[in-house]
Amino acid sequence: MLQDPSLATMSSIHTMIQAPEGTKLWLLDCGNMEADEGWFKRGGGTNTKSNPTAISNRRVLSIISVLIEHPTEGLILFETGAGKDYHNHWGAPLNDVFAQWNYRPDQELDVQIAKTGHNIKDIKAVIMGHLHLDHAGGLEHFRGTDIPIYVHETELKHAYYSAATGSDVVYLIKDLPFDVNWQSFSGSSHEIFQGITLHHAPGHTPGLCIMQVNLKESGTFIMTTDMYHVYENWEASHPQGWLARDHDDWVRSHQMIKTLQRRTNAKMVFGHCKDTFDKYEHAPHAYQ
Ligand SMILES: [Zn+2]
Repeated sequence: MLQDPSLATMSSIHTMIQAPEGTKLWLLDCGNMEADEGWFKRGGGTNTKSNPTAISNRRVLSIISVLIEHPTEGLILFETGAGKDYHNHWGAPLNDVFAQWNYRPDQELDVQIAKTGHNIKDIKAVIMGHLHLDHAGGLEHFRGTDIPIYVHETELKHAYYSAATGSDVVYLIKDLPFDVNWQSFSGSSHEIFQGITLHHAPGHTPGLCIMQVNLKESGTFIMTTDMYHVYENWEASHPQGWLARDHDDWVRSHQMIKTLQRRTNAKMVFGHCKDTFDKYEHAPHAYQ
């Protein structure tokens, strides 16, 4: 009998260990961008013989962070959004390519956390799925503190290399400060806290990790960060567009996540899919 090769890398323990009783999870709405759909879906807007003047759609995207109240570890933040005043922080042409859309002050990270009844100053740990500018901008809140910023070793090395050499402009050196408490981990799978497991899923970036959270009542959530930008990447296995980096790695990671989702019946939260994100309850609603 043929065995799914991705099963060999995954212990069934990942589906069994629950976050402790009383764990809460909030989905934070940290703003919106709009951009050419070709960044997220390969072939978007391609013209054809029968449609030689095809135009590419523009797509509105969500910027998403996740807050977890963990009974033994305290407040844990997954990704930090684009940061305050990111439109100016990025500058041209990035702020034209990925344009801010319908800004609301209550979409600032600290305000979103306040909606949950907590203060950003009470965060005890930050987990970064990857370090692109629209996820790492909010690290500004943690400069000069001892709060650990967990990220896969490969991602941290790649981000600094890319920013230093200019090989990938969506890493900004100003989002990668030395005065934060970087903590790296390695390997293919890492249970960072009880009920919270990070799975290395390269493809969009070499060190990207998705986060699996096993909740008692709501079941398993998988936060994919930008392994999937929009639901079509997941549902139709539609490869990423101009933001794809290593296609073969992405396909292998996709197989691993398909297996993981099937085994856990997880709810999927994609990196920027507003259509999907808006089907869930946002903060102040807590999933438990
Ligand atoms: Zn992103």
